[in-house]
Amino acid sequence: MPASPESFFPTDYVDSRRRFLSAAGEAGAALDGRVHETARGARGEALWMDAARLGPPPGAAEAMLLILSGTHGVEGFCGAGAQIGTLQARAEAAPLPPDTALLMVHAVNPYGFSWLRRVNEDNIDLNRNFIDREAGAPPRNAGYDAIRAIAAPDDWDADANLAAADDARAAMGDRAWRAAHSGGQYQDPVGIFYGGDGPSWSSQALFGLLDQHLAGVKRLAVLDYHTGLGPPGYGERIAMHDPASAAMARLDSWFGGDVTSTHAGTAVTVPLSGTILDGIERRYADAAVSAAALEFGTIDNRHVQLAVRADNWLHHHGALDSPQGFRIKQQIRDAFFVDEDWWKRAVWERGVETQRAMLEGLAL
Ligand SMILES: [Zn+2]
Repeated sequence: MPASPESFFPTDYVDSRRRFLSAAGEAGAALDGRVHETARGARGEALWMDAARLGPPPGAAEAMLLILSGTHGVEGFCGAGAQIGTLQARAEAAPLPPDTALLMVHAVNPYGFSWLRRVNEDNIDLNRNFIDREAGAPPRNAGYDAIRAIAAPDDWDADANLAAADDARAAMGDRAWRAAHSGGQYQDPVGIFYGGDGPSWSSQALFGLLDQHLAGVKRLAVLDYHTGLGPPGYGERIAMHDPASAAMARLDSWFGGDVTSTHAGTAVTVPLSGTILDGIERRYADAAVSAAALEFGTIDNRHVQLAVRADNWLHHHGALDSPQGFRIKQQIRDAFFVDEDWWKRAVWERGVETQRAMLEGLAL
């Protein structure tokens, strides 16, 4: 019998990495990874993006399910828990379809996972970093400029900041507020949801791994675990493909319609620029790519956003090693990881169902 789902979820990045590697070893997976050459973790540890591969080796698989965790650092508790559980339960699970590999990338943003941040070592939101830079300069988020004093203040007063955000949201309307606040911006390197001025370490490391592991793959399914939006414990499957594309039609069919679309406006997320799934789809355009985020709700959105603003203030203006610093770190951990059994079971079950549907779809 595999261990119970509640036990799959890690307590921090170091614990997560140790358990991921150990479960991968037990499952007989081939290991790969990239280490960050300069940044270090919150405990001084080296920062790795690890990969575990099951099924045929590179060059010998026609189909692949790729599962990503920790694209948004602190959200890695969720995705890594699902990955560790998947590895631990592998012996009892249905065998992989022929010619199909399963590749799990643990901690796409190891810095953010270790330091409990959504962003990476350069304050970059990786899920806004994968814009097509050959297509010209990224668009300016004018809405962000308008709320900049709320988004990235120099001084921190949580109650006043929350009240100002509530007022701005009421004045702008919820959708405009979310696009301004969270849609992504490329103009304020010390602000929130910053997409960066070039490819991040993580994007280069990830593509380095994938270039190697995707050799020969003609059908690629990608599942990227996220948290912080939607009803607590509910996992929304979110596609970022063109609504009229073959990829969207595939996901619709695999999930029996249980998938939303950022572009069609049916998702809990506003349309985002530069997502990791867009980046993968663009780079591996020769393959049939079917990609979805699995977004689990945690606490209410006002307080999730407040935690992100507080954390941004702390890392640019505050003292990490202070009572206020500890409070803000606990607050952002709680905003992206509900450290309770019912939530972990919900993540596990929805993740299993989603991965199974993708593996079955790949075999069609
Ligand atoms: Zn996320």
